[in-house]
Amino acid sequence: MNILILGAGGREHAFALKLSESIKVQQLFVAPGNAGTAAIATNINIDISDFEAVKNIVLEHAIKMVVVGPEGPLVAGIHDYFLADVALKGVSVIGPKKDGALLEGSKDFSKQFMQKHGVPTARYQSFTKESLQDGIAFLETLEAPYVLKADGLAGGKGVLILNDLAEAKTELEEMVSHEKFGKASTTVVIEEFLKGIELSVFVLTDGKSYKILPSAKDYKRIGEGDLGLNTGGMGAISPVPFADSVFLSKVEELVVKPTISGLQKEGIDFRGFLFIGLMNHNGNPSVVEYNVRMGDPETEVVLPRITSDLFELFEGVAHQNLHEKSFEVVDKIATTIMLVAGGYPGAYEKNKEITGFENMNDAIVYHAGTSIFEGKVVTNGGRVMAITALGDTIEEALEKSYRNVNKIHFDQMNYRKDIGFDLVC
Ligand code: ATP
Repeated sequence: MNILILGAGGREHAFALKLSESIKVQQLFVAPGNAGTAAIATNINIDISDFEAVKNIVLEHAIKMVVVGPEGPLVAGIHDYFLADVALKGVSVIGPKKDGALLEGSKDFSKQFMQKHGVPTARYQSFTKESLQDGIAFLETLEAPYVLKADGLAGGKGVLILNDLAEAKTELEEMVSHEKFGKASTTVVIEEFLKGIELSVFVLTDGKSYKILPSAKDYKRIGEGDLGLNTGGMGAISPVPFADSVFLSKVEELVVKPTISGLQKEGIDFRGFLFIGLMNHNGNPSVVEYNVRMGDPETEVVLPRITSDLFELFEGVAHQNLHEKSFEVVDKIATTIMLVAGGYPGAYEKNKEITGFENMNDAIVYHAGTSIFEGKVVTNGGRVMAITALGDTIEEALEKSYRNVNKIHFDQMNYRKDIGFDLVC
């Protein structure tokens, strides 16, 4: 079968590598892709928010499956677009339709969903410009820190956590009345602050049954000690040592099962990945957020641990027979270190030649912001590549990841030197 992967990051390179291992995959296409995907698939430079352009590629190359990496096209309805077009009959889309994608596209919707279906989450209320005064009154009932979330997609920047009540009130007004995050913040969710340690659990579902993929923890801040500005993710580790089997069975019973049955009760036919952001507080899970796609860089530690055929699993999602598919995970620890451009997440330069990444013997290089220029692999984004290694212990995996990181060079390369250190006993 010919497959098209949409996206350009490390997540999509990881999908491409895993799918390329399946004997049932014939031709792989990635749009727009990066220098890593170019080595194992055909990159096609289109704007993936242009569904007609995606359709043309699908028809031209007899593609029968489209794997959607980022949330944007899902929230904008690419799956619905494919279902509505007779010319695309028989083409499967891995990723939910617009109704399911609302779990990520609207925080107000996802909070309502959790409350309705009994999924543990922080107490909340939603407000608009018209109910600003009620929002201020609600803030007064809460204790610091105050959590304000723009309802819509805001590029990972729409959540404010503030210690000062007066500042929280001002920010609420900025969000609802002055469109601080544009249309995304015309509705704002205010919720209780959850204490605990964060982790993510990933679920692949065909809408009826599900497979729980390995858990992961990512490192969001640019600086060591988890300080400084937020980024797309500077590294990740899987599995998460503090997510033991007792905790994970609570996650399955209290979160995954009610979520899947809630989707069914709502008539939402959800086929794809569900990424559940969780807080572990004294061994009890509480949902921070749902995303409707895999995480990046979490994919770069989750997929290398899955030994089953990813294509077969996707076929199971498409044909709703996921329960018949084999699903095996290797009992190893995976760590990944993200190499980023100097200056990121602020302004940074591109087009720096990258060297040394071909010489990995016990690590995998997942390209993110890379491209090919005059025959050389160069930087093309803030997050450049993720270096993943597997080990029997966290220490072993980290040693391999960092040893291989040290072989790679580009001008102003930066990375965190403390990934996973908080988890080393
Ligand atoms: P992401 O970039 O992770 O997709 P997002 O914009 O979708 O972020 P959330 O995941 O809901 O927003 O929140 C971002 C981060 O803020 C969380 O990863 C978590 O660290 C923190 N956070 C969110 N809600 C709470 C809460 N109720 N209590 C404590 N921390 C929270």
